[in-house]
Amino acid sequence: MRCQPRYKGPVYIWSKNKQPCLLCDETADGISPVCTACETELPWLGDHCQTCALPLPAAGLTCGHCLKQPPAFEQVITPWTYSFPVDSLITRFKHNAKWPFGRLLAELLAQYLQHRFEDDLERPDLLIPVPLANRRLRQRGFNQAAMLAQWLGTSLDIPCDERLLLRTQDTDAQQALNAEARRKNLRNAFALAPGAVVKGQHLALVDDVLTTGATAQALARLLMDTGAARVDVYCLARTPKPGETP
Ligand SMILES: [Zn+2]
Ligand SMILES: [Zn+2]
Repeated sequence: MRCQPRYKGPVYIWSKNKQPCLLCDETADGISPVCTACETELPWLGDHCQTCALPLPAAGLTCGHCLKQPPAFEQVITPWTYSFPVDSLITRFKHNAKWPFGRLLAELLAQYLQHRFEDDLERPDLLIPVPLANRRLRQRGFNQAAMLAQWLGTSLDIPCDERLLLRTQDTDAQQALNAEARRKNLRNAFALAPGAVVKGQHLALVDDVLTTGATAQALARLLMDTGAARVDVYCLARTPKPGETP
């Protein structure tokens, strides 16, 4: 069953006409959905941890957390920090179902990934969106990670499987738990769909925002334990550590 809404609105007009920039209403140049000035002003991620993309003061470093406990994923690839206007675009996409904003961010992320593939990043075999808790899915009506993964898959010509991972428990009550209980809770919250095979595959998890990385870690652990060769994480934005500004 396919639960994601199909959106084929103004998105495809971008490539045909000169359209106003989606962020400032000036005429965008070329086929880009945003003008060069707006694109330059996006909160591009500066120096960051080579593994989890946490903003760091210098280039080429790995953060203390990743050094102490190397995550099951290989690396987090993200263009932006979670700050204005990317944060508000993501919020509008997620909570007000403003799909053109999600589509815009997905398109820019696809362009960013394409450059990274041409540079040195290995292309994955399959994109897998982070599954949404059932209760959230019922409230919201769509899984924003699955929409992002499908748009990325189309732009980058990489297959996408939104049914490979199942969220077997809702983990909304996480805040009340301590770190250890939270990790255990998360570990049991996901499962591979019956009959799914990931052996030997290079997978990329797709989500909107990476905050603590705990969900990505739990999913990457599950995929690696079931035979995946490598798991990367693609997301729109990375939050700094709580209390730090990007
Ligand atoms: Zn603009
Ligand atoms: Zn790190």
